[in-house]
Amino acid sequence: MELQGGHAFTDWWERFHETRRGYFALQPDGQRSGFPNPRTVKLCQSNPAGWQQWLADVAKKLEKDPTLQVFSASPNDGWASGHCTCENCRAWDHPDGEPRQFHWKGGNEIHPALSDRHVTFANRLAGLLKERYPDRDYYVMMLAYGHSRPAPIKAVPAENVIMVSVANFFGRSDDDDRGSTRGTTHREQFTAWGKVAPHLMWRPNTGSPAGWQQGLPDVSMTQLAEDFRFVADNHCVGLFVDSVWEHWATRWSRPARAVAIRYASVGPAIDS
Ligand SMILES: [Zn+2]
Repeated sequence: MELQGGHAFTDWWERFHETRRGYFALQPDGQRSGFPNPRTVKLCQSNPAGWQQWLADVAKKLEKDPTLQVFSASPNDGWASGHCTCENCRAWDHPDGEPRQFHWKGGNEIHPALSDRHVTFANRLAGLLKERYPDRDYYVMMLAYGHSRPAPIKAVPAENVIMVSVANFFGRSDDDDRGSTRGTTHREQFTAWGKVAPHLMWRPNTGSPAGWQQGLPDVSMTQLAEDFRFVADNHCVGLFVDSVWEHWATRWSRPARAVAIRYASVGPAIDS
């Protein structure tokens, strides 16, 4: 199963900002302005027209490559900025979600984590995907990243959704999530997702001990062995390590390489 680790809607502003402005997130100033910028623009995820557009894109991708099985619905990067403030999108948030700091043009505000919202969005798409291709083994891929790093409070990912946790403990076991207001560690977040997601991948960024991507040797084999054992024990079925370009000899992996492993009959397996 071929997987991607990135963001799904980076070309949507360019494609649709003139004709389909309703696809995009409503900002606090009442505009769908594309904040913060075209490549990191956020969607109005509760807009059914956007779901149909995503499905039409899936059909086009399948025309080009009928072997595809996994279709990303992961929000664009710039994870604190520009998320939709419309009533319907907000209704998908859970009030008990971890309070996190969001950014819009002109200021910051604290709101609940987006985990429940993003799972609900992925589930809507997963339902449409199954309806359109009932006999196919197709999946929606959704990152648990930025403000959706904590596990959801109530929403449960559907059977044909693959959650991809960007829990950054690759070689750094005890790191806190810097966006957490509760001091939660990345490992705790991964464990929590493992309890609710039918399919969970681990998609850490590599980094130096300070957390920056430098490409310098940072070889921590014992730590990595422990990390792999940990994710396997917490229901991981696939890996995608976002690495540092051109430094793969010291960082063990190249970017854009992913592999997912189905559960063996005896339980979760892991490979690389
Ligand atoms: Zn919205």
